[in-house]
Amino acid sequence: MTKVQVCRFFFKWIGYNLPMNTLNITFPLERSEIVSMLQHFKISPTRQRVEIAEFLFQRPQHLSAEKILDGVTRDGNRVSRATVYNTMGLFSNKGVVREVLIDRERVFYDSNPKVHQHLYNVDTGELIDIYDVEVEMVVEPELPEGLKIIDTDIVYKVTSK
Ligand SMILES: [Zn+2]
Repeated sequence: MTKVQVCRFFFKWIGYNLPMNTLNITFPLERSEIVSMLQHFKISPTRQRVEIAEFLFQRPQHLSAEKILDGVTRDGNRVSRATVYNTMGLFSNKGVVREVLIDRERVFYDSNPKVHQHLYNVDTGELIDIYDVEVEMVVEPELPEGLKIIDTDIVYKVTSK
């Protein structure tokens, strides 16, 4: 059994149903679609926010804030580092993108709206999507009174054997 299979077996036991994301995206998003999407999330579509989102939603991808800054400026837009960081904070708070936290130095922003989990390869630094539509609630974690689960985020960290 590989390490990944061991993790997945474990996940079957601790996993719970994830809230389905209602976004139905066909990549790449056009500028007009970006504007409506931001409005849907109650975000004012400023020029810079639209440019950043346009870069993100070319395809489902995982990008660090620095990669986003590089990409957006390479496309000829003038966006500051602070704007990229602020915008990504706003986008993840509002649910436009998902923030995937590997550790303090590594945060990825994920434009893939489908329910999925991640494999992080510590050798290559690569983050890979994994889908498991059959994640069922088998054992629910014991929660303090009055709390309910609204989301979960699982990153399996893997390395070569
Ligand atoms: Zn992902």
